[in-house]
Amino acid sequence: MPELPEVEANRRLLIPLAGHRVTAVHLPDPTSVRPALSTKSKDAGGAERLTALVGQVADVPTRKGKRLGWTFGPHGLLAHLGMTGRFVVADAEPRWAKVGITFDDGRTVWFVDPRRFGCVVPVDAAKVSAALSQGLGPDALDDPQSGAQLAARFVTPRAIKVALLDQDRLAGMGNIHAVEALWRAHLHPDTRCVDLDAKAWDALAAAITTQLHHGLDLVAADGIAYLSDGVITNPFEVYGRAGEACRRCGGRIQGEVRAGRSTFWCPDCQPQRA
Ligand SMILES: [Zn+2]
Repeated sequence: MPELPEVEANRRLLIPLAGHRVTAVHLPDPTSVRPALSTKSKDAGGAERLTALVGQVADVPTRKGKRLGWTFGPHGLLAHLGMTGRFVVADAEPRWAKVGITFDDGRTVWFVDPRRFGCVVPVDAAKVSAALSQGLGPDALDDPQSGAQLAARFVTPRAIKVALLDQDRLAGMGNIHAVEALWRAHLHPDTRCVDLDAKAWDALAAAITTQLHHGLDLVAADGIAYLSDGVITNPFEVYGRAGEACRRCGGRIQGEVRAGRSTFWCPDCQPQRA
């Protein structure tokens, strides 16, 4: 599943198209055009609203958490990559293409999504910013929180690993990077938020920033490709490494499910707090 670094990489792919005028919109599979990010239902008027992009000039795309926004004059798009969605710039229509936008320099960007959990939502440009932020906490990458700020946002008896995935506390933290950040911060995933002290919050704040920038580097190097393409090299420190030796201390990595999500940690250097 794309996490924040992949979504940001998609945004960066679209940036060079800013300033170019849309000359055509293609809809090879309109089922991914939805009336809102939060619904799975098809948007009956979506095709017509997408066609309105023709003639408009693209702005620089924006991102909040795992949501993308892109405005074109008075019109706009929201996008969520779901499980397998991504944007691709290609002359020929790629397999599983849902939506394509051709620009005045001849380039076409396609929204491709084999498993169809992602979507594109046509909205008025004026609504893009609010729709991107609705229900989300500060962006984990663009608005890094201090330890004290994190502590204030995570006042809950819930386990830190589970709470880190609450997008209304911190937008963009996904399962893999939460697991990796906790390892970096030497924190056991089951630690209750209320049991973390100031030092632990500071360590976690730094670890989240380090981890997300590391994730961006991995994506830039195509190191997370295995997540979607079945390549076997695991680029992570603890994620997916149950039973292997901890790369930091040699302890045996544990893997268990927490709140339905795979969770990994080293019991030796991420000890459970009393
Ligand atoms: Zn360890």
